[in-house]
Amino acid sequence: MKKIPLAGPFITQKEIDYVHDAVVNGWYETYDMHIRRLEERFAEAVGVKYAIATYCGTHALHLAALALQLGPGDEVIVADQSYIATAYAISYTGAECVFADVCPDTLCIDPAQIEQLITPRTKAVMVVHFGGFCCDMDAVMRIAEKHGLTVIEDACQSFGSCWHGRHTGTIGAAGAFSFQGSKIAVGGEGGMFVTNDENIYRRARHFGTFCRNDAVQYLWSDGIGYNYRISNLTAALILAQVERIDALVANKKRIFECYREQLEGHPQFELLVPRSDAGFNYGYVLGYLRSGNRDERDQLVDKLAAENIHLRPGYPSMHRMPPYSQDRLLPNSDRYDRCGLVLPSAHSLTETDIAVVCERLDRVLSGKTESGEAVECDI
Ligand SMILES: *Cc1c(COP(=O)(O)O)cnc(C)c1O
Repeated sequence: MKKIPLAGPFITQKEIDYVHDAVVNGWYETYDMHIRRLEERFAEAVGVKYAIATYCGTHALHLAALALQLGPGDEVIVADQSYIATAYAISYTGAECVFADVCPDTLCIDPAQIEQLITPRTKAVMVVHFGGFCCDMDAVMRIAEKHGLTVIEDACQSFGSCWHGRHTGTIGAAGAFSFQGSKIAVGGEGGMFVTNDENIYRRARHFGTFCRNDAVQYLWSDGIGYNYRISNLTAALILAQVERIDALVANKKRIFECYREQLEGHPQFELLVPRSDAGFNYGYVLGYLRSGNRDERDQLVDKLAAENIHLRPGYPSMHRMPPYSQDRLLPNSDRYDRCGLVLPSAHSLTETDIAVVCERLDRVLSGKTESGEAVECDI
């Protein structure tokens, strides 16, 4: 049976040419040629003053937390739904994560929750543009300004998504993107830190390059820094992808619209669709089982996996996992944890692949057999 993958890249001759160029020419005085080009090109693409390419998105998030001078004693309000790296970036600095529930239709932080969680120790808010959906940045920025909080945007899944004409990741004090292999634009691994603030930029650059300060003395270091640099080879690959972002979004849109035609309004599966006022990158195809049943969701994932169709369950709520174990009630986040689903959206999917996924999904959820008959229940 043909494998239908969850995620995968869209590679053309341009990527191959750029990587070839980096292998052949990216040494000696041009060792970072593609990195510099990538940073310039990315800053231009998202409309931000400063960009720093990093080894991965987690490093970019950590640089944001470091550059905003978060540390022990500080609290950061974090969206409860994300990949765990979002929270780790805060925890690495010694600051504490306080998890906030998400909106059910976007899986992004619910702005109404933020104000209730503010204490005298709250320093920042970490929002996540989940699956390419935009967080309501107008509401978040209004609350942050009112209470003197800084905003970090985890835009790791939202390259190509805009909020009211501004690219996600560029609205708060700092933002982070990822080019890990399952994202819309890939480098295998790779990340990008962005900001419009010169001081924040300088601090992030300093931390990410060992806190080196050659102005004092060659190879002098004036703090405990990190080696968060990207390889020039990887930068070459990502550069080609960044230059092709419009084509990447268009291809993801083709896939999403194909699913939408077949699944919108499905009796057992609720497909998440974008708001009309936000520019969506169509990066992921997300939804819930309407039954809300975890076992049913897990069985569906297993059944389709047996047919070579790769679905992924929703992320576990971060507040529930051992590094945090916060005894909180975050029903929307917990619902996605319990019955959320990510459908295959690899760039390579054809209309036929998507029809197969929808047909199998429908068959399992409606309890029909191959012949279309409803299965008798044993009980
Ligand atoms: C992928 C991802 C990260 C981590 O990025 P890496 O490049 O894998 O380190 C962080 N947050 C979110 C929301 C992500 O999707």
